[in-house]
Amino acid sequence: MFIYADHAATTKILPCALEVYNKTCEEFYGNPSSLHTAGQRAKEILEKSREEIASILNAAPREIYFTSGGSEADNQAILSAAYAGAKKGKKKILSTAIEHHAVLHTLDKLKREGFEIVLLPVGHEGIVKAEDVKNAIDDETALVSVMLANNEIGTLQPVEEIGEICREKGVLFHTDAVQAVGHIPVDVQKIKCDYLALSAHKFGGPKGVGVIYARKGAPLSPLIEGGAQEKGKRAGTEDLPAIAAMSAALKASIADMGATSALLKRLQAKLIDGLERIPHSSLNGDRTRRLFGNVSFCFEGCEGEALLLYLDDEGICASSGSACTSGSLDPSHVLLAIGRVHDVAHGSLRLTLGPENTEADVDYLLEKIPEVVEKVRSFSPVWRDLKEGRRQYIL
Ligand SMILES: *Cc1c(COP(=O)(O)O)cnc(C)c1O
Repeated sequence: MFIYADHAATTKILPCALEVYNKTCEEFYGNPSSLHTAGQRAKEILEKSREEIASILNAAPREIYFTSGGSEADNQAILSAAYAGAKKGKKKILSTAIEHHAVLHTLDKLKREGFEIVLLPVGHEGIVKAEDVKNAIDDETALVSVMLANNEIGTLQPVEEIGEICREKGVLFHTDAVQAVGHIPVDVQKIKCDYLALSAHKFGGPKGVGVIYARKGAPLSPLIEGGAQEKGKRAGTEDLPAIAAMSAALKASIADMGATSALLKRLQAKLIDGLERIPHSSLNGDRTRRLFGNVSFCFEGCEGEALLLYLDDEGICASSGSACTSGSLDPSHVLLAIGRVHDVAHGSLRLTLGPENTEADVDYLLEKIPEVVEKVRSFSPVWRDLKEGRRQYIL
């Protein structure tokens, strides 16, 4: 058995996207900045991809800038808004405690440069309250950055309400939509965001390519200086095969969205119901306001890293916390933000399903995970203390 259940980390490239990738490499190898025929043919593919992606997001093509992925887009949106704000004396940025590190580490950098960073709480459900955003905005606020869907626990944030509030108050709004685009409908007019980040490899496109949407008039400064590509906002010869393949993957994901969502909703319900039968376990984040593919649990008296290794032995690819935090001993900032204590947060397991997963995969997961949890608990000193009453169960 081999089950890939780590779609929030990355996805396998879709066959249609791979085909476009290969064809673009072979046939459209010109540099889109070149004036000759080969260059102009490449330029046409570039602009067609931009139009297709813009249309799916309900944006104008000139508001779409290609980047190396979600991290770059998040960095560029936040830094552009922050430095533009600072020029007007506004040095406060609001965000949440559960953002991706591409956002949080950029905010850390700004904090070292003298910006005031406020991370709003998300409560036990893992969802920020629009009301809290509203109350925290003041005359100093340059930017609000709230993700659309969380990458660890899948919870959906009230970005439409937040967008409305920001527009009313005249504050720039960025949303990291990397986990959402291609999976749920995303419309920049409905969200009223000024910036949005997306990444191709999270929806069946190639790795290393993404988009920053920047609303017309929103400040945008380049992270990379050099040529005049992307209207001077992102220098460097465009990765045309990846850009064209990203557009193909996005179109295909949108076309299949209804069917994929129905499948994932069914598989998710079955998986959550099954895992909840494991004693002293608990689902992380709100049960319904979450991405259909996301199932994140904490198992008390269990070491997450050990869980992953034993599951891997059974052919199951899963994750504990985010891919970026694994390898470090700090528990996930997201799990701590929803109120999990350190010990419990260490026993986390994230399963993220995709369109190629089946009912049989879920049956296999529900056969193996309880066995592996029991095995890992059997040599855990924490579990022994819990069982023998020297410690109180939390879950
Ligand atoms: C994956 C991810 C990113 C980073 O995207 P890359 O393209 O891998 O740089 C940013 N934000 C979220 C929510 C993600 O899931």
